[in-house]
Amino acid sequence: MIGIICAMRQEIEEILVFTKEIKEECYRNFKFIRGNIFGTECVLSLCGIGKVHAAMCTQTLIMKYNPDFIINVGVAGGIAPEIKIGDIAIASGVVQHDFDISSFEGRKKGEIAGIDLIEIETTKWITDKILVCSKSINPIQIHTGTILSGDQFICSPQKLTELKNEFGGIACEMEAGSIGQVCYMNKKEFGIIRSISDHADNSSNIDFDKFIKSSSKNAANILSNFIKSYRD
Ligand code: SAH
Repeated sequence: MIGIICAMRQEIEEILVFTKEIKEECYRNFKFIRGNIFGTECVLSLCGIGKVHAAMCTQTLIMKYNPDFIINVGVAGGIAPEIKIGDIAIASGVVQHDFDISSFEGRKKGEIAGIDLIEIETTKWITDKILVCSKSINPIQIHTGTILSGDQFICSPQKLTELKNEFGGIACEMEAGSIGQVCYMNKKEFGIIRSISDHADNSSNIDFDKFIKSSSKNAANILSNFIKSYRD
């Protein structure tokens, strides 16, 4: 069974389009939807926005369904200058950009206390497989790199430059870092597929509303290709 996590209704709806034999279950504040995607049993969950929601949902998903691995699918703000709205960002690793205990000696910005890592790598075979599947979808551009998460909707060029200088990265959003941490702590394999809805700049809130549907569809298409062929 594959566990799939989306933060928002618009993101999950594009996956439900090709999900069959749907059975809905509510558990501990979260909606879980069991279904069949191209012959693979999946459980889809709607976690809500932000790192706490995403962490709670990921832990619940693992404890209740014990999926083989987890894929987080949704939209994100673009960081890399060459990344455009509608492009796909596949995470090689995730960072929580707002985790900051750097005023203590030896601690770096983004370093997660207790784990002592800044970046948590996604599972290589999953990320490689997503990349291979994505290449067959033309003309969408695919980017791989670090995805930065924090409990902030990024909508300022200054903040964007700060993030770029601090961590690099290809895209920013609000859940992947915590999903990564929970998976890491549970030794659960995971991957992240995001499509760009905005440029995290002054007009990112307007762009977000305008492109959430089309970008969610792009991300869902990559997921569908992955599920069709991940066993090959
Ligand atoms: N309109 C919503 C808020 C959306 S927050 C409301 O009013 O409730 C943005 C969501 O999309 C988050 O789930 C986040 O993961 C992702 N996202 C897209 N662009 C982003 C950006 N520029 N900064 C941070 N998160 C972004």
